[in-house]
Amino acid sequence: METTAAFVGLTCVDCGETFDAAEAPGRCPDCGGILDPDYDYDALDLTRETFSGDGPGLWRYEQLMPFTREAAVTMDEGSTPLVEAPRLAEELGVGRVLIKDEGRNPTGTFKDRGQALAVTAAVGHDATDVALATAGNAGQAASAYAARAGLDSHVFVPSRASFINKAMINVHGGEMTVVEGRIGDAGAAYEDAFAEHDDWHSVKTFVTPYRHEGKKTMLYEIIEQMDWEVPDHVVYPTGGGVGLVGMHKAATELRDLGLTDDLPAMWAAQSEGCAPVVKAFDEGKEVHEAWEVPDTICGGIEIPDPGASPLILEALRESGGGAVATSDEEILDSAVTVAQHEGVEMGVTCSAAASGAWELSERGDFGEDDTVVLLNTGAGSKDADVIRSHLMSKGI
Ligand SMILES: *Cc1c(COP(=O)(O)O)cnc(C)c1O
Ligand SMILES: [Zn+2]
Repeated sequence: METTAAFVGLTCVDCGETFDAAEAPGRCPDCGGILDPDYDYDALDLTRETFSGDGPGLWRYEQLMPFTREAAVTMDEGSTPLVEAPRLAEELGVGRVLIKDEGRNPTGTFKDRGQALAVTAAVGHDATDVALATAGNAGQAASAYAARAGLDSHVFVPSRASFINKAMINVHGGEMTVVEGRIGDAGAAYEDAFAEHDDWHSVKTFVTPYRHEGKKTMLYEIIEQMDWEVPDHVVYPTGGGVGLVGMHKAATELRDLGLTDDLPAMWAAQSEGCAPVVKAFDEGKEVHEAWEVPDTICGGIEIPDPGASPLILEALRESGGGAVATSDEEILDSAVTVAQHEGVEMGVTCSAAASGAWELSERGDFGEDDTVVLLNTGAGSKDADVIRSHLMSKGI
């Protein structure tokens, strides 16, 4: 594997053991815990000027990534705009609202950041095949990056996954298994198949150690785009929490490197139809309980049993943020409002962040001068059918 100078290996978040990246392609070999990439920060001597390099996309932050740009499987993902949303700021009663528009990625969602690193790692491990269970967007991204790397991909999606996701997995040449039911059913079918294929390399959420590492670059970009000012709040549509955990890691790195002073408050936005993180946060728990009957139109965050909930809850508490759930009706309304008031096209799952921000504003969690960043994790046009049907259900 071609790794970067500062990357020292993978540390288990549960037992604390450290492993050479070449020896640990997935979870902790000792205890099964989540592995987190670790760096020799002292050796880096980074300043605000030298923090990012040249060239397109997230590999600008190569110094704080496990792999070099040269080794990367990349389509120049990242470098997405941070769009000013003045009407939303007025409506939410805050100083500034900015929308990080991850819809501008190669396959239309921020899943590309995670899969770019995960598939690069797969190549480094000499894998021939990658596999995962996914609500849809991660599968589309994985099949795209696998195609680019010349690997085969095996993608397990629930029947609920969107038409666009299924179609594009096919278009990229992925082997797709559509499983009747929800993400849990797709996950079970995947586990059975994975057990029978020694040659499959997992690029599943928090099995590969690299998806959150790819997504941490969203926060690096936000801080640089704000000229090193730290936003007061970041609102994130939370499923497995990969992006939230990654961004909190990035904010902590920047603070510990002395490049910023504070952490942004991280807020997990979920749908009332599947809100295990919100429930655990409100009850002061350190780990979630599986949500029994998940039911939300927001497929990307219909994750009833997020295995990384201890990391998510820790990030929310450490950063002074929290969690918020709104109804599917409010979430769909928010997608329409943002499209009509700002022009920005938010995906259905993503607009849980906008809807959550309205709720947080009503709860008094935002100050009148605060800066609020909303993560638009995917392009609205991927969900055009759902948003349009919502309008039609209202006679519009
Ligand atoms: C996967 C997904 C999410 C949730 O991501 P996590 O980091 O796993 O919480 C949110 N929005 C969209 C559009 C997604 O595809
Ligand atoms: Zn361990």
